[in-house]
Amino acid sequence: MKKSIVLLFLCLFSVSFYAQTKKFKVVLDAGHGGKDYGATYHGNIEKKISLNTVLKVGEILAKESNIEVVYTRKTDVFIELNERANIANRSKGHLFVSMHCNANDNQEASGNETYVMGVTRNAANLEVAKKENAVVTLESDYKIKYDGFDPKSPESVMGISIMQEENIQQSIDIAGKVQQAFTKFTTSKNRGVKQAGFLVLRKIIMPRVLIEMGFVSNKPEGAFLNSEDGQNKLAEAISKAILGYRDDFFKTETATTVKKEESKKATVKKEDPKKVDPKKVDPKQSSENKTAVEGVTFKIQISASAKNLETVPKNFKGLNNISVEKGTTIYKYFYGSTSSYTKAKQLLEEAKAKGYTSSFIVPIKNGKKIKLSEAIK
Ligand SMILES: [Zn+2]
Repeated sequence: MKKSIVLLFLCLFSVSFYAQTKKFKVVLDAGHGGKDYGATYHGNIEKKISLNTVLKVGEILAKESNIEVVYTRKTDVFIELNERANIANRSKGHLFVSMHCNANDNQEASGNETYVMGVTRNAANLEVAKKENAVVTLESDYKIKYDGFDPKSPESVMGISIMQEENIQQSIDIAGKVQQAFTKFTTSKNRGVKQAGFLVLRKIIMPRVLIEMGFVSNKPEGAFLNSEDGQNKLAEAISKAILGYRDDFFKTETATTVKKEESKKATVKKEDPKKVDPKKVDPKQSSENKTAVEGVTFKIQISASAKNLETVPKNFKGLNNISVEKGTTIYKYFYGSTSSYTKAKQLLEEAKAKGYTSSFIVPIKNGKKIKLSEAIK
């Protein structure tokens, strides 16, 4: 009797554990809180706007199955920056999204922008990071806790170590999606994806972005940020971006694994392409042809950077056949180009072996990036 209860318990535990591991976990961080009001202009208070909008994003995401939302705060409380990172890391989230409002003495300044961690010398970016980082002065012993950090010094902002450079590509991707969605859901000015050193992002070991949803210092934009309608629109946009990110980087991974398992069961003849040793394959039945996808080119994105590098092997750990895509602020670098998904997976392994551990396959059709799940249908 006892044994069967234990067994039942174990079964239930493993089922729920299995279900849990399948969930996409997003950590939502409402900037500031409690004694830290953030930027305050014309009665628009950053800590309130960020919390209200975070809760709205969480509400929208909660309607989706298989998403778990983790909050760094759900009420008006003060939380230290390091603790925000601890909450995110402890939860083993897949994505960290910090939401803030911008402010500037020039009250004409307006628009939204999304930041990823990075070294910048751009004065405007440094200024935004400096303002957001200054909240640590409300914490005791902040210089010890943040390794001698001085919020007033630009060198200090530039020097914030980038601990998880390997997540930079995914971070840039979600940042791009947020900015795209803002353009779709609001009429606010799109200021683009930017890089700077943010203390709150510093220790987070997952793809991470900090969104400046708009300027509270700009009268009309501040009113929009402070309004129910404005917050609904912003939340709609940010949720859309998060779901798009989930579809690109999380769902496809799970879907292809399941598909592989199913096809393995269904047919013995169809070999799992992953298991085929390319050197041992008879050229006549090369998997190249079998896995070629019409009209789709696969490239391996190996890195993204603010630096414009010459596409020569010495700049890319000896890899040749490097191409570059120039964005407004970021250069994306790709290794190889093939119409075969099997070949693409080989190229991916080669890139990873060279040390580009966060590389991933990018399918392109008619010059546009498409979802991996669509490409290998
Ligand atoms: Zn802020």
